[in-house]
Amino acid sequence: MPRKPTLTNLSLRRAVISTCLAMNELGINQGTSGNVSVRAGKGFLITPSGVPYDKMKPGQVVEMDLKSGYRGDWLPSSEWRMHMDLFKARPEAGAIVHTHSNYATALSCLRIDIPAFHYMIGVTGGTSLRCSDYADFGTQALSDTMIEAIEGRTACLLANHGMICFGPTLDKALWLASEIETLCHQYYIATQAGLPIVLSDAQMESILARFKAYGKQPGELKDSEKHAVEAPIKRRG
Ligand code: 13P
Ligand code: ZN
Repeated sequence: MPRKPTLTNLSLRRAVISTCLAMNELGINQGTSGNVSVRAGKGFLITPSGVPYDKMKPGQVVEMDLKSGYRGDWLPSSEWRMHMDLFKARPEAGAIVHTHSNYATALSCLRIDIPAFHYMIGVTGGTSLRCSDYADFGTQALSDTMIEAIEGRTACLLANHGMICFGPTLDKALWLASEIETLCHQYYIATQAGLPIVLSDAQMESILARFKAYGKQPGELKDSEKHAVEAPIKRRG
């Protein structure tokens, strides 16, 4: 009997599934919508199409290259083009999360860019959370408009669809997806209560500079980032 080939990248495959399950726990996933990927070797691993996250097995996570090829018995996510194009366009992307989380999706139906109503909009890497144009799911047209909307940013809304974001690792991409959903929820609440005051570009520039230094220890900071943090006085001992 022919032996089954051993599974490559087992721990990364498991990490993809853990990320998916964490999306369920965080309440930012809807059924089988959404998908997750992570760079692996010269290509990437991506969730299979239409498989519920709680049923997904490591062998179902699909290996793809950056030339539209895949290996194995399972079809990759119907959004493989968005993932492949993002990995190609953005070398800093290590992992990608796409979801139809409630508030991001609801706001994507308004087809508006979410302005800097809160300084945390800076987590996108810019002064707004842009929204792409509309295109059918799983198409090159959707991938193209997404690449435009996410240019210079790490996240964007997809019109009448949901959101997509990336980070250097699966954990960071998951964190960002959850943060974007929180921001969309907060924007929704704020607009119900009144007209939010949007932060100016100058105020957001200051935030973006602070973000570069945020969470880093003094030794990790470049000289150009030092002005952004005002640490207390370090005492001896
Ligand atoms: P897949 O199950 O093919 O990943 O599709 C879900 C989705 O969100 C399509 O946009
Ligand atoms: Zn989708």
